[in-house]
Amino acid sequence: MLNKEEILENLKEVKDNISKNCQKVGRENDVTLVAVTKTFPKELIQTCIDLDINVVGENRARELRDKYNEFKDKVSWHMIGHMQRNKVKYIIDKVDLIHSLDSKRLAKEINKRAKKNDVIMDCLLQINIVDENSKYGILKKDIDDIFEYIQKFKNIRIVGFMNMAPFYDDPENARNDFKKMKDLFDSYKNNNYANIYMKHLSMGMTNDYHIAVQEGSNMVRIGSAIFGKRDYS
Ligand SMILES: *Cc1c(COP(=O)(O)O)cnc(C)c1O
Repeated sequence: MLNKEEILENLKEVKDNISKNCQKVGRENDVTLVAVTKTFPKELIQTCIDLDINVVGENRARELRDKYNEFKDKVSWHMIGHMQRNKVKYIIDKVDLIHSLDSKRLAKEINKRAKKNDVIMDCLLQINIVDENSKYGILKKDIDDIFEYIQKFKNIRIVGFMNMAPFYDDPENARNDFKKMKDLFDSYKNNNYANIYMKHLSMGMTNDYHIAVQEGSNMVRIGSAIFGKRDYS
């Protein structure tokens, strides 16, 4: 694992890249950085706190729960990974945003658990913009249908879209999908659903965040560019 000084250096570089890429396309820098701490030991969260990183992303419910129990609300926790319904209960009272809402059944469970905990859970709808069958996420053609379904839930608020581009050796290949995501995001800004607001467009990871920012992302999820390589063993 990298030491604190190395992480700080990486963090500065990432923030600098974000602001440069905003400047490049003449947009204001309203980009939220979600630092992805998944797979790293708990101690990394303390490093984040020390370095004023205030939003962290985790992709597994139990791992998030265990880390949360040590640090509580010293950072804001985001759930960024695909989630099974039976895991919702672990995180519902801990996270500020779920990026990976990708089915009606999951929405129903989140609403149920949120109601029990007396919270309104902010969620992003994960979109599959490339139309590949194997990927998680809602297809463009199914968005209205799921919004119709979700609008009856009092304990869920949809606050935007999330997208995960396929890994390309050349991240330029993701540009067109990011453009499509931004158009989609803008097209839902005026809608008639009471609990659906288009505030966050979560797209861009280590490999492609510079392109995502150029194309209008206002929330990037970055792990390895800040913390170094992950060890999955
Ligand atoms: C792991 C992960 C990231 C961060 O990936 P890096 O390439 O390390 O920046 C972002 N989003 C999701 C959903 C992830 O699972």
